[in-house]
Amino acid sequence: MQWEHLTSTDFARAVQDTGVCIITMGVVEKHSEHLPLGTDFLTAHKIACLAAEKEPAVVFPPFYFGQIYEARCFPGTITLKPALLIELIQSVFDEIGRNGFKKIIVLNGHGGNNHLLGFLAQCSLWEEKPYQLYLPMRHLSSEAEAAWKEMQDAAYGGHACETETCQVLGTYPELVKMDRIPEEPAIPLGRLAHLPPTYTGIWWYSDYPNHYAGDARPATLEKGQKLIQWSAEYLADYIAAVKADTAVAALSKEFFERMSRVSG
Ligand SMILES: [Zn+2]
Repeated sequence: MQWEHLTSTDFARAVQDTGVCIITMGVVEKHSEHLPLGTDFLTAHKIACLAAEKEPAVVFPPFYFGQIYEARCFPGTITLKPALLIELIQSVFDEIGRNGFKKIIVLNGHGGNNHLLGFLAQCSLWEEKPYQLYLPMRHLSSEAEAAWKEMQDAAYGGHACETETCQVLGTYPELVKMDRIPEEPAIPLGRLAHLPPTYTGIWWYSDYPNHYAGDARPATLEKGQKLIQWSAEYLADYIAAVKADTAVAALSKEFFERMSRVSG
């Protein structure tokens, strides 16, 4: 169920009944020439809503602040100052916890958030909170992942590619402009290939200056619907696993008790 669709009374009941809130993390950024700026948060939020229909959970309203500095050179990108971004997301987690959820699933819809969200999960050991964060590390079961590999026609992907175009086709087909898919696939340009393997802020731009990676041409509505169905099924099972889990909270409690003994 969607947080923003509930009445206050029904919300309180949903907190009691489900105990789990899902927040989806997307951004607003260019997706080549054919997908909407909101692709990441629109698709992730839709998948979360579908999963929460199968295994009840409350889905936080669409959230679209994240790490996307590498798209600041394209119109329509929304970014916040780094320190503000971290504080904002942590405050939102706290607010979900203040509303009574002891378990928060953080569903990432944007690859560029991976380091940020991993860091925020590590930050949960800075101080004890009344809730635990759970970050799914995959989006499909291994069977579905193998089936999806079979189904794909593009040799290469990464951004606004066959997979991501299928995700939008499977959720908001009216927002996909198939006639604007670039005629040429976007392969990495390798403009930093002279260096030993190196991580640098400009790496993405160095390879993909048009914010397109892969080949969206083979995307179809049918593939998209299948992919979304598999993603929602996987997430529903994940919600059930989180509901059943008692270890994360117990280990956190033990950790913070030991920490308090260190400081006397
Ligand atoms: Zn995306």
